[in-house]
Amino acid sequence: MKTMKVSVVTPDGPVYESDVEMVSTKAQSGELGILPGHIPMVAPLQIGAIRLIKDGKTEYVAVTGGLLEVRSEQVTILAQAAEKSENIDVDRALRAKERAEERLRQQRQENIDFKRAELALQRAINRISVAQRKI
Ligand code: ATP
Repeated sequence: MKTMKVSVVTPDGPVYESDVEMVSTKAQSGELGILPGHIPMVAPLQIGAIRLIKDGKTEYVAVTGGLLEVRSEQVTILAQAAEKSENIDVDRALRAKERAEERLRQQRQENIDFKRAELALQRAINRISVAQRKI
């Protein structure tokens, strides 16, 4: 089976590096599936899951958006933060979700940054669903 090299890199260093058969994720323009031999491209990503098929098995990485680049059998994903599903601390994500929901509830009374709270909520929900491999 043909494979391609995939690296997920954050400012803290590489999070995932492997040879895989397929990568799929959500670009801002919609669902994106990449097989070896894909034409070169760059696409901005949404907060979401990266699904990787390696040796016929599916692996998941949570990303907080970022940029995906395909270049000669190499896929690079640059993101502000990314976690392999098995490294996600679900309790932490649940706490982050509660904090964000509370901020969104308060935002009518106080001048809270709505977009910031909404993004924090999306990151937390994404981490919870990737940890449970529900994406
Ligand atoms: P929190 O409020 O819990 O910090 P956050 O969404 O603000 O959540 P980020 O700013 O996206 O966190 O990430 C900061 C760092 O913490 C990154 O390195 C990220 O990979 C890591 N991180 C955040 N949440 C989790 C989690 N639930 N499990 C494991 N690592 C996490």
